[in-house]
Amino acid sequence: MSTIPAPSAVDALHGPPLPVLGADVRVPLITGDEVSYGALDYAASAPVLSSVWDDVSAYMPYYGSVHRGAGHLSQLSTDLFERSRRTVGEFLGCRGDDEVVFTRSTTDSLNLLAAALPAGTQVYVFETEHHAALLPWPPERLTVMRAPGSAYEAVEIVAETLACHDPQRPGLVCVTGASNVTGEIWPVGSITEVAHTAGVRVALDAAQLVPHRRVDVAGLGVDYVAFSGHKMYAPFGAGVLAGRADWLRTAAPYLAGGGASRRVVHGDGALSVEWQQGAARHEAGSPNVVGVHALASACRALTAAGFDALAAREEALLERTLAGLAGIEQVRVLSLLGGSAPRVGVISFVVDGWNSAHLAAALSAEYGIGVRDGMFCAHPLVRGLLGNAPDHSDECGAPEPLAPGARQVNAVRASFGAGTPVEHLDRLVAAVAALARDGSRWTYRTEAGRCVPVR
Ligand code: PMP
Repeated sequence: MSTIPAPSAVDALHGPPLPVLGADVRVPLITGDEVSYGALDYAASAPVLSSVWDDVSAYMPYYGSVHRGAGHLSQLSTDLFERSRRTVGEFLGCRGDDEVVFTRSTTDSLNLLAAALPAGTQVYVFETEHHAALLPWPPERLTVMRAPGSAYEAVEIVAETLACHDPQRPGLVCVTGASNVTGEIWPVGSITEVAHTAGVRVALDAAQLVPHRRVDVAGLGVDYVAFSGHKMYAPFGAGVLAGRADWLRTAAPYLAGGGASRRVVHGDGALSVEWQQGAARHEAGSPNVVGVHALASACRALTAAGFDALAAREEALLERTLAGLAGIEQVRVLSLLGGSAPRVGVISFVVDGWNSAHLAAALSAEYGIGVRDGMFCAHPLVRGLLGNAPDHSDECGAPEPLAPGARQVNAVRASFGAGTPVEHLDRLVAAVAALARDGSRWTYRTEAGRCVPVR
């Protein structure tokens, strides 16, 4: 007898998913049928919340230039832009003197922070970070910490590493809030305490945390936080870097141009520029008011839904899906911090005898499920989780079946959130079980590095 409750039990206990656009989109299967799209790639980009879309649509007739126009709509748009900044600051629980800078994405935010580091700053990152948090830092001032095997060990490694930090130099630990590969939540509060004891600041890569859990900058004590709108149900290309004003205020503008400059004078054959002091210093050019409005709208929607309720529903979905996958002998779910580590709605796994590119292609073509396969822009982490040598070549696209027990080179990731119906995850588990048991019903080949069904 199955111990997994009926799908309706999740909704009865935790309410239905939040309304998102695309929930009723149907996609063709290679077999000729059509099914509703099983959107399980939230960790890459989540669907847009209906309320965000409504807010954006309501604003569009009033769209105007920000910061420079004298007209009514320009003033309205400027006001909206600056109110959005306050909304985001409140959403994040920022300190009163923190800056909230609008960027394009988490990657952009962390590159901005890297460009704003005071001279001589030593940066500390785990090798397990997403490339956006691993790569922006000057290599000669970067210490890469080894992968921990538990949350406790993560804190210990930071403590050991920072014991050698020169207190005369500025320092920064950049750490993820939740892994985009395993979904595991990192012990950010404890890491921050240890870092601050060593006089080192902390930047939180909250790209995967912000859509799922309340991030409280002041409560956690982190100095900076970076995230993207498109992972929190607000596409349109806006991101955020929020945190301590001092480094940002003294750094060279991230982008030089209009908006970042207060006064420009040409005299004696040279330009002299007085730059802005606040967030505008790093926001040169016409800002993305639509993206920022959408992002602030998502902050309001998630707050109104309540993170406790969202997390409880997501945990019910996680438990159900992990229990389903645990019942399939060939499946191994990837975990870095150990089985008891809390997770957000991200599950990466491999299936013995299956190349993950092939599995993901079959999930899409035969079951209408959209997952992701590969190494998820976290190559050192995924190689480590798959037990591979650091220098092995990546062979992600190969559709050939693997021999049982053969080395895996990539993984499948299913990720979900506030808009996910139970059925999508149940369909995933049933599909993986059927594929593992019976194989795919179609033939696949590699085309331009992707595994695709032969038509
Ligand atoms: N950090 C993490 C943990 C992520 O998952 C991602 C996106 N996959 C990023 C950073 C980069 O986000 P973006 O692509 O929006 O810059």
